[in-house]
Amino acid sequence: MSGPSEQQVLDALRRVRDEERGGDVVGLGMVSGLAVRDGHVAFALEVEPSRAARLESLRQAAERAVDALPGVLSVSAVLTAQRQGPAPPRGAAPRHGTGAAKPLIPGVRTIVAVASGKGGVGKSTTAANLALALRANGLRVGVLDADIYGPSMPRMLGISGRPNSRDGRVLEPMQNHGVKCMSMGFLVPEETPMIWRGPMVMSALNQMLRDVAWGELDILVVDLPPGTGDAQLTMAQQVPLSGAVIVSTPQDIALLDARKGLNMFRKVDVPVLGIIENMSYFTCPHCGERSDIFSHGGARQEAARLNVEFLGELPLDIAIRETSDGGTPIVVAQPESAHARVYRAMANRVWEKVGAASSRPAPRIIVE
Ligand code: ADP
Repeated sequence: MSGPSEQQVLDALRRVRDEERGGDVVGLGMVSGLAVRDGHVAFALEVEPSRAARLESLRQAAERAVDALPGVLSVSAVLTAQRQGPAPPRGAAPRHGTGAAKPLIPGVRTIVAVASGKGGVGKSTTAANLALALRANGLRVGVLDADIYGPSMPRMLGISGRPNSRDGRVLEPMQNHGVKCMSMGFLVPEETPMIWRGPMVMSALNQMLRDVAWGELDILVVDLPPGTGDAQLTMAQQVPLSGAVIVSTPQDIALLDARKGLNMFRKVDVPVLGIIENMSYFTCPHCGERSDIFSHGGARQEAARLNVEFLGELPLDIAIRETSDGGTPIVVAQPESAHARVYRAMANRVWEKVGAASSRPAPRIIVE
């Protein structure tokens, strides 16, 4: 057996300083999950999610410090969201199987999932319009189409072709309407039937998250596959989500499903930012008369009862369908329309809830 010992790795890491916090990464208790075997070293640096975007250089410095040790064959350091709870003891004994730590994506400030209890409620339409509305509100936005069974973002955002890779490893995201996008739809032909097994799903998702040159993003919108089964739960666990938005139609049955969605996110400690009611009512394109075909308002009442914010409602409107199915969703196609305004207001609220938290300045200590 060759290669350094855990102690030697920790000693090397003691020379890596987190200047913002004024200490070394070991002394500050940031190192976790250290694994050292035959010259292969892996560990995580636990950081506050709000600082993740700035700490890529710290991660690289930690890798270099370990790489310089004699006998090291490979080093892999990831930034992970700091776990809740008391600070670990100084000296950072290696901890294994913490489970709660999720690797963050450098440069991406916040990640918000759009979910639904079942298919066909307009989850992808909502995700696309929400992303474009966040963009219209001046943010740097990416869309990750995690609906690998039925990717619809290429069509909804009007993007076709294949992503490039400069180095043969990291993919450049595709772009349109000012947002970046990655989707399994770019990588496999639309008509190809795909049989995905659990581990393949996770590895595809991980690659789309981490092996994509997202660059600096304020927010990454993740379009989850419909449903609240194990696959969705695992995804919600794997992605460092800042929060989730649930899309529902007003029908009772869909609402039951929305409730399952809420429980799913609560189980994995992801804050539910709110519920959006889609296909809330119907406006006749001919006479303009409004009909509440699906007992409109169900989601609002349900949200109140479940103590979740109601973010807004969109009617069943052919303009919403035609624009998103045509590759230019209504927020871009008809920015002055009432619907676009609703999406922008919802985007505002979502950003208020996750963005404000991610950029909150550290409290200043004033000694008088
Ligand atoms: P999901 O992602 O939940 O499966 P989609 O977003 O793909 O659902 O929407 C299913 C279909 O319904 C699409 O053709 C979409 O254009 C249409 N659609 C979604 N929301 C609306 C709406 N508010 N009004 C009219 N059509 C809609």
